[in-house]
Amino acid sequence: MAMSLTMETLVSLCKRRGFIFQSSEIYGGIASCWDYGPLGAELKQNIKRAWWRDHVQLRPDMVGLDASILMHPTVWKASGHVDHFTDPMVDCRECRRRFRADKLDETPWTHYCSAKKGNKFAVPPGEPCAHCGTRRSLCPECGKGELTPPRQFNLMFRTFMGAVEEEATLVYLRPETAQGIFVNFDNVLQAMRRKLPFGIAQIGKAFRNEITPGNFIFRTHEFEQMEIEYFVNPNDTVNGKSADEYWHERWIEGSLAWFQRYGMRAERLRLREHDKEELAHYAKRTADIEYRFPFGWSELMGIANRTDFDLRQHAQWSGKALTYFDEERKEHVVPYVIEPSAGVDRALLAFLVDAYREEEVRGERRVLLKLHPELAPVKVAVLPLLKKREDIVRTAQGIRAELARRWAVSYDDTAAIGRLYRRQDEVGTPFCVTVDVRTVGDAERAERGDGRVTIRDRDSMQQVRVPIPELRSVLQELLDGGEWGTVTARFGAGASPEAG
Ligand SMILES: [Zn+2]
Ligand SMILES: [Zn+2]
Repeated sequence: MAMSLTMETLVSLCKRRGFIFQSSEIYGGIASCWDYGPLGAELKQNIKRAWWRDHVQLRPDMVGLDASILMHPTVWKASGHVDHFTDPMVDCRECRRRFRADKLDETPWTHYCSAKKGNKFAVPPGEPCAHCGTRRSLCPECGKGELTPPRQFNLMFRTFMGAVEEEATLVYLRPETAQGIFVNFDNVLQAMRRKLPFGIAQIGKAFRNEITPGNFIFRTHEFEQMEIEYFVNPNDTVNGKSADEYWHERWIEGSLAWFQRYGMRAERLRLREHDKEELAHYAKRTADIEYRFPFGWSELMGIANRTDFDLRQHAQWSGKALTYFDEERKEHVVPYVIEPSAGVDRALLAFLVDAYREEEVRGERRVLLKLHPELAPVKVAVLPLLKKREDIVRTAQGIRAELARRWAVSYDDTAAIGRLYRRQDEVGTPFCVTVDVRTVGDAERAERGDGRVTIRDRDSMQQVRVPIPELRSVLQELLDGGEWGTVTARFGAGASPEAG
């Protein structure tokens, strides 16, 4: 049953199942700010943990950093953000709404048509009126107001540091995490005794006062970044290429592979090279990884070759040398930087979109989040088949407590088993464990239980019964990517399709 997912469906699932809520909702919400609910918080943690492990812990050439959000204001002079991190804005003189000058023709516009007795029409983006041929010149929203000439509007959030506002220092909420890495380049180099090439990774919040944010958590005022600055010696050559070009290529391939390793479908990912006009003035080459969201192909992450621009700028503004001593050539060099930069929230949105499936099972609709086990917010759900049987409940609670020492586990006894399975499918729980009468037996009838519980697989809906003492190791095997078939073969007789 191929069905294309709409953002409306996804937003509603996210709210209903506790992934993402609108911020300050009881007060009517605040534009483009979102809160991660219990399952969203787990999912987000899992994405960050996987990224950190794969990019920092597993690599001998990487280290981590956690820099502060508030930085010395000169950082943003040096980086160019104070002068150039701007969007051209226009205001409507009637309704006072504000628009990005370069995006005016991307939304439908309101038009009072003289050829149609002044009646109001919504004209498609960028098109002239079909009745009178007029093009939009007034405010697209109210259709009446003149627009001011474009003015440059800085995207950084500003605040004040100090007790008395008049004497306080103007500081900014960082618009990117990258600068925290650049200004710590020498600290890390010295403290960790690094040799080029090496990288510094950071996960943290950044803030941008975007006037036209939108598409749920795709573009928001407050967001989280996973950024790497990978420093290379521009004088080195690797495989016949300059080191920066070689490593840029490697990071592009590696980044694409990372999303696929956690289940993202290859046909929904593509690479887009920035052309000359689009490139930032300091960048030698930039490639975006785009994902096919329900609203179209959009940037998931960017991988830029920023050359030595940032380190040179900070050296100039701070008066501190930010160089590396090349032992071989006996000279100081300013490293080039490759910057793979991904948004946590965007990655989370893409993983959710990609995981979403609708299937028909025995005439009923099944909604499924086919999340990679490592990303799934809940790894195992423990479900007692009869909530009034004390021995079943006691056994199930014991299993829950034992598994919870290692994984995010949920316990649910508030519906019939079929319903409980569907609930877990909808939030992407890879495995359910069911305790039933066969597990504990029936004392009144003098029947002994078999001491086994049922593991049910989310994707195939197949089941296998395993002895309780082996449950943890079997789940570990499965969550580590072990084959379902291998496990069912070992416990053979109990494997069966889902019943009920
Ligand atoms: Zn207006
Ligand atoms: Zn018209």
